[in-house]
Amino acid sequence: MPIFSSPAFEDHEALHAFHDAGAGLNCLIAIHSTALGPAGGGVRMWPYPDDQAAIDDALKLSRAMSHKNAMAGLELGGGKTVVIGDPARDKTPALFEALGRAIEQVGGRYWAAEDVGVSPADLVYARKQTRFVAGLEGGHAAASGDPSPVTAEGVRRGIALCVERALGRPLSEVTVAIQGVGHVGAILADKLAADGAKLIVCDMNQAQAAAVAARTGAQLVSTDAIFDAQCDVFAPCALGGAISSRTLPRIKAKIVAGGANNQLADEATGRALFAAGLTYAPDFVINGGGIINVAAEIRALERGAAYDPAWVEMKIAAMIATLGEVLDRSAAEKRPADQIAVQMAQERIAAARK
Ligand code: NAD
Repeated sequence: MPIFSSPAFEDHEALHAFHDAGAGLNCLIAIHSTALGPAGGGVRMWPYPDDQAAIDDALKLSRAMSHKNAMAGLELGGGKTVVIGDPARDKTPALFEALGRAIEQVGGRYWAAEDVGVSPADLVYARKQTRFVAGLEGGHAAASGDPSPVTAEGVRRGIALCVERALGRPLSEVTVAIQGVGHVGAILADKLAADGAKLIVCDMNQAQAAAVAARTGAQLVSTDAIFDAQCDVFAPCALGGAISSRTLPRIKAKIVAGGANNQLADEATGRALFAAGLTYAPDFVINGGGIINVAAEIRALERGAAYDPAWVEMKIAAMIATLGEVLDRSAAEKRPADQIAVQMAQERIAAARK
């Protein structure tokens, strides 16, 4: 069972495995780096086919959080939890309380928030067992609530920047294809529709996609047909690996920019995107709004203060400026934007380690 030799290991500080038979919990907490501060990252619940898939995903997502937090200018390192289970079937209050005990054992080196398959309401149970959980709905002055709307707003602004730079047009003159209209994708659709953009949407959950299409006027397509959509921007907002050697040749967009984590199947796809002349907004740069919102809660809790929306706005504006810097350097150095962004993140982490 490769851990240290897993391709995603890259200098991880720790990988914790927790089992609670009574609560039915099997989870992994990966901590990539605490150089910039305690590791911050969401809890993902997913029916992984086997343990290795869960280990690889935890390591990959945790490393991505290190890069994301560094690029968002946060005093947070990178970590991630994966809970092995089906969120539609296996969620119980006892499971999330057991998760809270696991997080508590990591001793403040990791702060948890929500991710795919887990809602702020689930994390209320974890919070009973540990203070190191953020991103809850209401209840205290520091509470930041669901991070998804802030993620979606950051993605909207990032798309606008890419559209302006690559096409010289406003959002009202482009068509955006959104793959996945869950928490982030649905709010992004609402925002882009309000900006006057034309939309094409899909989701594995047909009813959800139909509801978003009905209220935004979007064209509804199948989860396969989205890759052939006639659009200016392809916005991956589902799970990872949407852009691969198999799907890239089908994509008609000039821009790939969306909220999903780990959008590129591999580095070669990043190089192929660049070689094909597409503008790519590296996922861990453009989707940092949610962790910025969570960081605002952590910051407020640590200071005994209230959630500060002005601080969040300042960080989102800085995140979009950083995206602009990545795109500038990509053009100037003739290198894929994802490579530039990883290098910038690694430099920030290395400087903090010193
Ligand atoms: P979500 O589970 O609410 O939404 C994901 C949606 O994608 C679901 O509706 C699901 O049915 C759909 N989906 C899954 N596979 C699909 C496929 N092949 N084709 C079409 N639809 C598919 O999750 P979310 O919170 O909206 O997060 C979406 C993505 O954004 C994830 O990659 C997540 O890691 C990332 N992200 C989320 C946040 C946040 O604040 N929620 C922050 C940063 C990054």
